[in-house]
Amino acid sequence: MKHLEELEPKNVFAVFEEICKIPHGSGNTAALGQFCMDFARERKLFCMQDETGNVIIKKPGAPGYENASPVILQGHLDMVLEQVPGNTLDMRSQGLVLGVDGDFIHANGTTLGGDDGIAVAYMLALLDGEYSHPPLECVFTVDEEIGLLGAEALDVSSLQGRRMINLDSEEEGIFTVGCAGGLTGECRLPVKRTTQRGVKITLALDGLKGGHSGAEIHKERGNALKLMGRLLARLDEALSFALISLEGGRVGNAIPAAAQVSLLVDPEEEALLLEETSAYQDILRHELRGSDGEVCVSVTKEALQEAEVLDPRSKTLLIYLLQMLPNGVQKRSVELEGLVETSCNLGIARLLKEELVLIHSIRSSVETEKMAVRDQVRLCVEFLGGSYKAHGVYPGWEYEKNSRLREVLTEEYQRLYGKAPLVLAIHAGLECGIFSSRIPGLQCVSIGPDMQDIHSGKERLSISSTRRVWEFLLAVLARLSD
Ligand SMILES: [Zn+2]
Repeated sequence: MKHLEELEPKNVFAVFEEICKIPHGSGNTAALGQFCMDFARERKLFCMQDETGNVIIKKPGAPGYENASPVILQGHLDMVLEQVPGNTLDMRSQGLVLGVDGDFIHANGTTLGGDDGIAVAYMLALLDGEYSHPPLECVFTVDEEIGLLGAEALDVSSLQGRRMINLDSEEEGIFTVGCAGGLTGECRLPVKRTTQRGVKITLALDGLKGGHSGAEIHKERGNALKLMGRLLARLDEALSFALISLEGGRVGNAIPAAAQVSLLVDPEEEALLLEETSAYQDILRHELRGSDGEVCVSVTKEALQEAEVLDPRSKTLLIYLLQMLPNGVQKRSVELEGLVETSCNLGIARLLKEELVLIHSIRSSVETEKMAVRDQVRLCVEFLGGSYKAHGVYPGWEYEKNSRLREVLTEEYQRLYGKAPLVLAIHAGLECGIFSSRIPGLQCVSIGPDMQDIHSGKERLSISSTRRVWEFLLAVLARLSD
């Protein structure tokens, strides 16, 4: 049964419905890749597929556009597989069950994969129809949702285009023109232990909101590990204690919402420790009243006991490191209002028997700023006798002040809708970052129709917005005759 038959634009929704019949979760895109390849072959278009599964299809310019410079269109083949509790569809082997509700298409309790199936549908509809457009180079990447893997593996040397429209945005009227690059850094600081006796006290700092280290770093939420470092420094000034353990955070790219330490104190200083801790909680509640007013430092007391603790020097180095590591927003853009340009997030801390391990993530839309923060952290760790290693380095996409492509898109949007689009950059990774770092002089804009609740079983795609973005895309391509 066809569900989307009556919807406009017919050709786009017809292809979209076909795509939804083919399971295409991340890591499982071979069938959809094959579908695209067959689609191109049936229409005698140039097509190629690399080992990773990425597909490139090229179509010559329409009459009058034969000599125009090519335009790259790009989207990803894979989708996130999510379903609401109780939904039993086997998304790895079964097609989606589509439904239409007013202006929205949904998939009956599972993700719809409008992200980014609608890009695939737009591109195939363009490759199929007769429209005014320059030579097209359509790129279908795999496994965007699990770390931009397809784009990362793509050989861009067969692409001639220096203008690219990425179709992986989820809000009509927003042009994304920049994104952050990033890296994960691992600090290791050797520590020495000794045996000591005292009252064991565990301090748990929690009640923070945490959040995504890119998309939510501008919210200035408390970082449990940094705040714990500050508490240790405060206690170290007021009394003498020994550190047994430190732990906090689960992943490098999330703001840690909780951290915990265990200490030994002299019974005589126990009351002072409680006093200092309670005063610190008051300070945090005041400082974080706008973001994390529920922050809480709780104390659990155990018996007098012997424990393996850090020797005094190791403890001092640990406190130094936690205090000195840069964290949070490092720089905001002065060109794009509201954009965080560079940030750093301490995500994980583990105090092992012989070393302290800290994992953090650095993001920046400016490559050199990313590296400068990396150096700042590296120098700090090395100075204290530790080591630093960066991995998972991916490039950013820097805002291009002069972009003829962006101008054309803006003019067409203004002409069609009588208002200006919102032009912005995001502080998270996008495939455009990889393309712009590999194709010199690439002008790139990311657009897409309205979608709601993507990556969840409630994902919905707006029908009217899909139609408007299609018309907009056609109008833009018709303008790119040079
Ligand atoms: Zn996407």
